[in-house]
Amino acid sequence: MGAFPGIAGLSRTEVRSAAQALGLPAYRGEQAWRWVHLRMAVEWSVMTDLGPALQREMARHFRVVTAQPVETVASRDGTVRAVLQLTDGEVIESVYIPAGERRTVCVSSQVGCRWACRFCASGKSGFRRSLQAAEMVDQVRWAARHWGDRPTHVVFMGMGEPFDNYEAWIMAVRRLNDPEGLAIGARRITVSTAGVIPGIERLAGEQLQIELSVSLHAPDSELRSELMPINRRYPLPDLLKACRRYTEKTRRIITFEYTLIETVNDTRAHAQALARLLAGFPCRVNLIPLSPVGEYEGRGPARESVRWFQEILEKARINTTLRQSRGAEVEAACGQLRLRRLKQEGRS
Ligand code: SAH
Repeated sequence: MGAFPGIAGLSRTEVRSAAQALGLPAYRGEQAWRWVHLRMAVEWSVMTDLGPALQREMARHFRVVTAQPVETVASRDGTVRAVLQLTDGEVIESVYIPAGERRTVCVSSQVGCRWACRFCASGKSGFRRSLQAAEMVDQVRWAARHWGDRPTHVVFMGMGEPFDNYEAWIMAVRRLNDPEGLAIGARRITVSTAGVIPGIERLAGEQLQIELSVSLHAPDSELRSELMPINRRYPLPDLLKACRRYTEKTRRIITFEYTLIETVNDTRAHAQALARLLAGFPCRVNLIPLSPVGEYEGRGPARESVRWFQEILEKARINTTLRQSRGAEVEAACGQLRLRRLKQEGRS
């Protein structure tokens, strides 16, 4: 961790020791921690019980926020996309998705992404850097401020590949899951991976009940390599073996994500091949109609192909869900707002 870390990435114990290292009583650190994790403070000056002198002292060593919202775009269905600027000027995106009693925040784990899936906006401007734990926790804290209430669900489905940033990511998960803090239940935290096998193996050993989603997008290795360069590094057969070991070890079901792209991967033949591939596997398939991205020529599926794709899987006794496209009129594919900003600034 850098010399001037975001306080939101630290555990209660770590903040207590950090306070002690500054010659302060441990409980002073804990007071600050409570402001950050329970009251979503984004300025030291609100921490009245610390008093101005201690506020200044803490501010010399820790950042109270590591990300500042610079733009928000709301769509009619209540979905809000937020662009946040980090302390080094990089920008990331979060999405706030309300649905009935649910408040889901979609969190980015990196600036850009190394894997550059063909249809994904996040990899289009390359990989810049991984986020620190505090930068991920702060995205959730801004969502809580937006709603005036804690999010009920967190999904790591924003920009980046969480398993390429495993250490910081798991630290963020532990902060969010802390029952004394934001207290987001493990089962309400979802991580999505493009298929980084070592990450799946590590997660299997964590004893954490979080939800694992694996991006599949193709029923065979050849097509998957075309859509997802990561498949050359971690080929589909090896990925499925790793997923099987994960379900055996954790007794948890995996969700496979499948983005439907017209004619590319959404035909009956693809659905049948997918049904054969996943036959008997303890999983569900989340079908996601492609959100068009300017830099990719593929198109979303026709309504009827979504319907029979789902039917073919259901007939093969594979549970499916269909992700409703939310916030479609506001450049819904994650990373698009950021890309637009970079273009405006002449950085991409
Ligand atoms: N790197 C991780 C998490 C980020 S993306 C992963 O690949 O899983 C979260 C999901 O959105 C992935 O399944 C990804 O393939 C999908 N996705 C990316 N761009 C999309 C687009 N334009 N339309 C629909 N889904 C998309």
